[in-house]
Amino acid sequence: MIRGVDMGERGYGRVNDEVIGRLVEVLGERNVKADIVERYVYSTDASLFSSLPDVVVTPENTSQVVDVVRIASEKRIPVTPRGGGTGLCGGAVPLYGGIVVDLSKMDRILEVDLDNFCVTVEAGITPERLNRELAKHGFFFPPSPGSKKMCTVGGMIATNAGGMHAVRYGVTRNFVLGLKLVIPPGDVVSLGGKVLKRCLGYDLIQLVVGSEGTLGIVTEATLRILPLPEKSAVVVAYFKDVSTAAKAVNAVLRKVIPSAIEVLDKWSIEAVNRYVPSLNLPRAEAALYFEVEGSEQEVERQIRVIVDACRSHGGETEWTSDSKEKERLLAGREIVGGAIMNIDRGRVRVYEAEDVCVPIAQLPRFVEEAHSISERYGIPVCIYGHAGDGNCHSGIMIDPKSREEWEKMRMMASEIYELAVKLGGNISGEHGIGLLRAKYMAGIHGQALHIMKKIKEAFDPQGILNPGKMGFT
Ligand SMILES: Cc1cc2nc3c(=O)[nH]c(=O)nc-3n(C[C@H](O)[C@H](O)[C@H](O)COP(=O)(O)OP(=O)(O)OC[C@H]3O[C@@H](n4cnc5c(N)ncnc54)[C@H](O)[C@@H]3O)c2cc1C
Repeated sequence: MIRGVDMGERGYGRVNDEVIGRLVEVLGERNVKADIVERYVYSTDASLFSSLPDVVVTPENTSQVVDVVRIASEKRIPVTPRGGGTGLCGGAVPLYGGIVVDLSKMDRILEVDLDNFCVTVEAGITPERLNRELAKHGFFFPPSPGSKKMCTVGGMIATNAGGMHAVRYGVTRNFVLGLKLVIPPGDVVSLGGKVLKRCLGYDLIQLVVGSEGTLGIVTEATLRILPLPEKSAVVVAYFKDVSTAAKAVNAVLRKVIPSAIEVLDKWSIEAVNRYVPSLNLPRAEAALYFEVEGSEQEVERQIRVIVDACRSHGGETEWTSDSKEKERLLAGREIVGGAIMNIDRGRVRVYEAEDVCVPIAQLPRFVEEAHSISERYGIPVCIYGHAGDGNCHSGIMIDPKSREEWEKMRMMASEIYELAVKLGGNISGEHGIGLLRAKYMAGIHGQALHIMKKIKEAFDPQGILNPGKMGFT
């Protein structure tokens, strides 16, 4: 989907030879990429959107980010921050061209402070590498998106990323204690620190979390970390219908909070079996995946509670604490995102309506009604996701060569969004707004969007930070 818009039309300044020369002066040649191949690589993220930047820069420290923002601000050139480019809604796509700031070279761990249970990192580090380093000290950073090997901590902060472990530990915003932020015309704002409690007026950290690069460029973050649990185990249960599976989840949550509760619907189970037949998952309407963590006794108690709850709701269960077996049991959930591409050869997944969140008690109704939408349009929808917090990833599978199916997909997506809202939920639990859902912002927020625009103006009066995203023009 090509969405590039001429920046001249919006009154933005152009990236000319003089601007490139100044960027080279402050960043060095190796950190300024202006050839078409490099620009093309940075024209998209994991979404279907695409728009060419005029130049890409890869700063190595905060002061270089300041220099870039200063140059951009002088000329009113759009600046789009970018981490791993794994965003699913076009957030890192430079709609109006301009400068893409790739933070991935800023990936150092600046301090591991075990006495204060926190770590300070540069924004470009991946959570996977951070966790590898923290594990050496017996600690971990719990937010765990499926993209953890490729995404960055800065991107996670900008999108308030969630993932499988949100049900027990919370999402990224629950772990951010401090931030270093670069804002126009080239200032560094330091927010928060190492303390766990703050009662000091407006909480700007929480405002920046989830702001998708529209308020500033995060260059450093201080994050809360936790000791690694002693032991972990996995329980998988298969159910004859989604509503008894949901009742089992409710019964579990009344007694224990597992570190993950994931669900696969019947189409997702079918897709996994077609993709890797040797997994041979039982034919069921719903599969639930529970992960539990804690001391030996805690883990045993949690397994007992989950197995009892699932069995008393007719679930067929399997569990293990052996690490190889855990991998085998979790495999279905791990591969489902890729597997659904094989539900029907020739169909591809379109990331639309892929991240709605409903109150957990409404999950069965959501799955049932989303399946009826799918039947009505004759287009498969595979639903999987985070059952513990009602965050469903619906994969609408279309034949990309059919114009009619693209059109139907758009109608289905808006029906799925409406369904989520009707059930008391929302249109994105963790992937965000970006370009994909920008058109829904006014309808969802009403007057609150006006307040958000005023807040944006306070951080970015020239409107150069990631313009065109989140419903801001
Ligand atoms: C296979 C796969 C699985 C995924 N699983 C999950 C999941 O389980 N949970 C989940 O929440 N998401 C998931 N995602 C979505 C995505 O990985 C997350 O949104 C992630 O947090 C994006 O990080 P990134 O570094 O790739 O950011 P990018 O895609 O580079 O950017 C995302 C947004 O953040 C802004 N941004 C990036 N870095 C900065 C910075 N330093 N300062 C200011 N703004 C910045 C960008 O401008 C953009 O608006 C998944 C994506 C894929 C492809």
